[in-house]
Amino acid sequence: MDEQRIRETDVPMAEVPWSGVRCVLCTLPKPLTLEHIIPESLGGILECKFLCSDCNSKMGEFYEGGLLDSPEFRLAIEPLQAANPKLYRQMAGQRGFILDGPGGPVRAILRNGRLTPERMTDVRGSEKTTTFQSVSDLKRALREAPAAYGVSGDEIESAIQRISGAPEDTRVELTPGVEFANWRPQTSLPDLSAPFADPRIGLKIAYEFLALYYGEQVFHESLQDARDCLLSRSEILESLKFEELHAREYAPFHSIRLDTSCSGTRVTVRLFGYLVWRVTFPGEQTSAPQFIGYRVNLIGRKHYLAVSD
Ligand SMILES: [Zn+2]
Repeated sequence: MDEQRIRETDVPMAEVPWSGVRCVLCTLPKPLTLEHIIPESLGGILECKFLCSDCNSKMGEFYEGGLLDSPEFRLAIEPLQAANPKLYRQMAGQRGFILDGPGGPVRAILRNGRLTPERMTDVRGSEKTTTFQSVSDLKRALREAPAAYGVSGDEIESAIQRISGAPEDTRVELTPGVEFANWRPQTSLPDLSAPFADPRIGLKIAYEFLALYYGEQVFHESLQDARDCLLSRSEILESLKFEELHAREYAPFHSIRLDTSCSGTRVTVRLFGYLVWRVTFPGEQTSAPQFIGYRVNLIGRKHYLAVSD
């Protein structure tokens, strides 16, 4: 690629104007709604009013919901903690982490920028170990059924006082044979137990970006396989030459590259610098330029377009 022929510009607006009246997925003439090409939940900015509300909801439900819980996206957002803490809190908020410490692994949720363990307080007796989500849960349990923890009704308030003043990571005797410990977690890792993301998220982004540059040509019959696959979550057909790849490491940007110099039109989607999907759409050459590169920088939340002459 001849770099001198590439013009790089700031994208002045987030919304790309659309003059058509048909939805680019179901192809029906219906009222059109605003769609983010790269999902907003991932920090995507570019949008276009070219999907009907049914197709818009389907894309959200099929490919975007739960995306940030999938292991590859969970790992992708971790480097943002240093690069863009505000965006990190948005993306990691309400998501699971695994904390580890002297009390063993526990699950936690990131709430308002703080990790809140789901279980962290133990009462250890000679015959049982009971784990509570928080110190206040233990206090409530004591007040409701003191005998279960070896304290009498009269001793409750003194037991609660001992719990309130107890140092972290130290076993404190509640009554003979019953110990209490408020463990402090020492490491936290994202919870990677959710299923992997649907790879069609790469096809969705690629197809919608293609539509921006094809305009009305996107309704061509040769692209029907792509539309059918996205709307019915069916198998990605070989005619689309779909590849799932990855780059060397995660980085705080998303990019989309459209290349018409090969047979068909190749669209390469790269999320968080690392997750890569490449689709070669079949069909006619178009009036689109040979090369279009789009990039959204997740540190400054700015996006750029590079177009060949
Ligand atoms: Zn539609």
